Amino acid sequence: MLLSGVGPADELRELGIDSVADLPGVGRNLQEHPIAPLIWKAKTTETLLRYLRYDRAALASLQWLLFKKGPFVNNGRHATIYTRTQPDLAQPDIQMVATSVGLDSLPWFPLITKSAVHRFVCLLGPFHPKSRGWVKLRSADPMDTPKVFYNIYDEPEDLNSMVRGMLQAREIYAQEPQKSLMEEELVPGNQIDTEKAMRAFLRQATRIGQHPVGTCAIGQGPDAVVDPELRVRGVEGLRVADASVMPLLTGGNTNIPCIMIGEKAADLIQGRERIQF
Ligand SMILES: Cc1cc2nc3c(=O)[nH]c(=O)nc-3n(C[C@H](O)[C@H](O)[C@H](O)COP(=O)(O)OP(=O)(O)OC[C@H]3O[C@@H](n4cnc5c(N)ncnc54)[C@H](O)[C@@H]3O)c2cc1C
Repeated sequence: MLLSGVGPADELRELGIDSVADLPGVGRNLQEHPIAPLIWKAKTTETLLRYLRYDRAALASLQWLLFKKGPFVNNGRHATIYTRTQPDLAQPDIQMVATSVGLDSLPWFPLITKSAVHRFVCLLGPFHPKSRGWVKLRSADPMDTPKVFYNIYDEPEDLNSMVRGMLQAREIYAQEPQKSLMEEELVPGNQIDTEKAMRAFLRQATRIGQHPVGTCAIGQGPDAVVDPELRVRGVEGLRVADASVMPLLTGGNTNIPCIMIGEKAADLIQGRERIQF
């Protein structure tokens, strides 16, 4: 869109791109789910890592393929916790994804590969981050990668919520039956116990959740890029139907909402009536 002149006209002119439609919202309002891990050493060897040993992995794969049973019916994400970190919140503000394997674990075999450490991981992330970033062109050359600035934790509440989430995760993992299965906290470690230290850890350890949305937001205001029928404002015959039209990031993963947007776009284009429930 930006390369074709659909976006903030002044910004595009500076790059030598003629404006086709002056839409200041294109590339703005970028939202992402930040994620950060808490990791514990496992006391047990009954984690998913056990089944990543080559011979066991081969058997587990067969078991899954033939009978849809065994350790590989699960992709390692054993539970997802949706939690309010403050009792007065109207909805959960933190998602925790519980896995029984380190995310960098690979298939292994004694004496051939380095033995990995059995671990439990809790991936923590705020559901409704308030921070907003942007996407801009670096140049008018389509082969140039764009500049993407997520601006994670720009809004203090996003980091506050993560600190509270970290405290809650530690509380949850300190309870039975999980407690008996675990040894010490490896990341960030129990020495990170003050709010200041937790903030510093989160700033350093946070990664993106791969849920970017919002840079062609649907709506009615001046920053809206597409109208309620997904048509790009001021451009004939052009619609956007992907994650970028979400004005607000979903409180959860984005794949299914993207499929819904695609289905809705197909209905709109074909002029199908809205289904009444
Ligand atoms: C590593 C990873 C893991 C994820 N895990 C999950 C998960 O577990 N659960 C979940 O809900 N979501 C997950 N997501 C997020 C989810 O996949 C995305 O939100 C969703 O796919 C976005 O859909 P989209 O249609 O906006 O974009 P995409 O799915 O990226 O689709 C864009 C399409 O456009 C095509 N395309 C690009 N440029 C051109 C061009 N010039 N001409 C023609 N075609 C073009 C691409 O090939 C692609 O097929 C994950 C994302 C990533 C990257």
